[in-house]
Amino acid sequence: MEPVKQLNILLVDDDPIMRKVIAAIIIGNGHLPLMANGYEQALSLLVKNKVDLILMDIEMPEVNGFVLTTMIRELYANWIPIIFLSANDSEAYLTQGIDAGGDDYITKPVKAIILRAKIRAMARIASMKDELELLNKKLSQLTNIDPLTTVMNRRGLDECLKKEWAVNQRQQGELSVLMFDIDFFKPYNDHYGHQKGDRCLVRFSKVLQSLLNRESDHIARYGGEEFLIILPFTPLEGAKFKADEILLALKKVAIKHGFSNVAPYLTASIGISSTKLGAKDYNELINQSDIALYQAKEKGRNQSYIYQGI
Ligand code: GH3
Ligand code: MG
Ligand code: MG
Ligand code: MG
Repeated sequence: MEPVKQLNILLVDDDPIMRKVIAAIIIGNGHLPLMANGYEQALSLLVKNKVDLILMDIEMPEVNGFVLTTMIRELYANWIPIIFLSANDSEAYLTQGIDAGGDDYITKPVKAIILRAKIRAMARIASMKDELELLNKKLSQLTNIDPLTTVMNRRGLDECLKKEWAVNQRQQGELSVLMFDIDFFKPYNDHYGHQKGDRCLVRFSKVLQSLLNRESDHIARYGGEEFLIILPFTPLEGAKFKADEILLALKKVAIKHGFSNVAPYLTASIGISSTKLGAKDYNELINQSDIALYQAKEKGRNQSYIYQGI
């Protein structure tokens, strides 16, 4: 038997005795009953609680169980299993209940053993649905990740920038970006081979990651041997400090590169920009850092350079 997870079960019934009887069964099975005597209490409990399952009476004054079910299905995109409880055992009623968006039907008087079994069955479906949602989430994360280095890919970067740009617009902070391009990586590949080149990219990305200590910072692989770091709420001076810290770390880690014209180890050039420099959107911000990167290359590589305008 699968382990019992405690469920929040919303019980909607206008009859206080019925509520008491069914609540006792719910508690007896290790779950938590939330009691509503009609549609108003039901809707208010749904807003305030995470409800795993609803047991719904049909005959109720004002709004009956069918109508309330339709309302809940319209209000909540998230599916919650609904089981009807009714003294009426006609086939027409059962059909109407399913049409209204219900999932199952139990006739009153409710037998404890039946209710228990139905709760278990619904809980099983609900937990499969949770697992499916989790898998979907993981899948969508995977499509945003570069498989080689496991940092964000271009697509993830785009989503991330969109979000950070919007946050920055709202909060009037300063958003900085660092654009990296490894120096003389073509000769690295040509001499050591593509596989070693790939391993080198992984090591390089690990060095960058190890120096990001704020939860809010992001790193992405922008292209082949180009990476981007997003630093929310960071002024240009802070971004420059971070860039130079990374250059120093690369010197310390000293990934051997015997075919570079600037150093005996792997280096990178870094272009820096921030929202302070007038970009109208995040594409322009990235463009600015790209121009600054070109300047860093021009000036001799293995250095960072702040965008100066054109
Ligand atoms: P520079 O200092 O001007 O940047 O010189 P560079 O040799 O790095 O020149 P460039 O940036 O134009 O070259 C990029 C090279 O990076 C081309 C290719 O050999 C290598 N490269 C790009 N993507 C990958 C990749 O996914 N894996 C490997 N191993 N190498 C890659
Ligand atoms: Mg009733
Ligand atoms: Mg390049
Ligand atoms: Mg390069």
